[in-house]
Amino acid sequence: QVIFKQYIEGVPKETDMEIKVSKTELKAPKGSGAILVKNLYLSCDPYMRGRMRDFRGSYIPPFVPGQVIEGFGVSEVVHSDNPNFKPRELITGLTGWEEYSLIQKTEQLRKIQQDGIPLSYHVGLLGMPGFTAYAGLYEVCSPCKDEYVFISAASGAVGQLVGQLAKLHGCYVVGSAGSNQKVDLLKNMLGFDEAFNYKEELDLDAVLKRYFPQGIDIYFDNVGGDMLDAALLNMRIHGRIAVCGMVSQQNLSDAKGIHNLFNLITRRVKMQGFLQSDHLDLYPRFLEDVTGYYKQGKIVYVEDMNEGLESAPAAFIGLFSGKNVGKQVIRVARE
Ligand code: NDP
Repeated sequence: QVIFKQYIEGVPKETDMEIKVSKTELKAPKGSGAILVKNLYLSCDPYMRGRMRDFRGSYIPPFVPGQVIEGFGVSEVVHSDNPNFKPRELITGLTGWEEYSLIQKTEQLRKIQQDGIPLSYHVGLLGMPGFTAYAGLYEVCSPCKDEYVFISAASGAVGQLVGQLAKLHGCYVVGSAGSNQKVDLLKNMLGFDEAFNYKEELDLDAVLKRYFPQGIDIYFDNVGGDMLDAALLNMRIHGRIAVCGMVSQQNLSDAKGIHNLFNLITRRVKMQGFLQSDHLDLYPRFLEDVTGYYKQGKIVYVEDMNEGLESAPAAFIGLFSGKNVGKQVIRVARE
């Protein structure tokens, strides 16, 4: 198991988590309605950092110190006291960062039909991050053909799908990322029109003016901070900003001020924060659309797969320095 040790401030460290090895006989107790699962893949997501602080006013409760970390996973049912689940069925949903989990809350679990799509994609392309891309782009940004779209953290779990969906919609798409390897991926594998390494740019306003001489219609913001401020200076009239995440601000105790909000008025820009979980009614349509695009070869998905449960703490921390190239997943056990 990976145990959460204590609430933290600043950038998370491996030592904020602890690997615990124990031998316990697990079974779903009779009458409990629980299922026992073997975890195959676990997802590392930036939102989990929010659960490492003792703040109860959020949309999701904090982790409990001394207990196993909770996260999305793909798992195989090994024992069930629930008539809706049978041994050997594959499921995805919230589970524990551990080899085997006893899941009591089964209502939110989704069964996986194996249809040639890699199982791990159910925590990425077809899981919460993929759905975030879909809901954020279509529900918040309402893209139109030929619009100019900018995406930050563009090669990550969410960003890479936003860009590909926007391209399928006929938009012009530019992404920012934190390394030349990621820029190459965006341009040569993920089909973005352009991409740049923001770490090599001194003036973010100037780089956005270079890639968007006509301005930006849609900014899909995964990072907040300086990039958001620079995008505000470059929005077109009636532009839309989807505030998806603020990974650049997540480890700061004092978030950075934004200076250019006045442009929201002068350019009549709509800026909207959203949570993917508010749009779950769209999930079936999302699954059908994105599965179809993938099977037709219209989209691809890049994963960064770490091997073994014990690699999870380092992989999670890597999200905050951009170590992950694509969706960060942990393979806990072979299928
Ligand atoms: P990614 O796979 O994109 O991983 C995080 C990436 O963020 C890193 O690889 C790195 O990319 C970038 N990053 C890290 N630190 C910084 C920094 N200080 N400044 C700028 N960029 C940084 O993560 P996801 O795709 O899973 O998530 C993207 C965003 O979406 C996050 O903010 C997350 O919280 C949010 N989110 C929101 C949801 C919602 O419902 N609103 C649901 C799911 C995710 P690089 O090397 O390019 O800098």
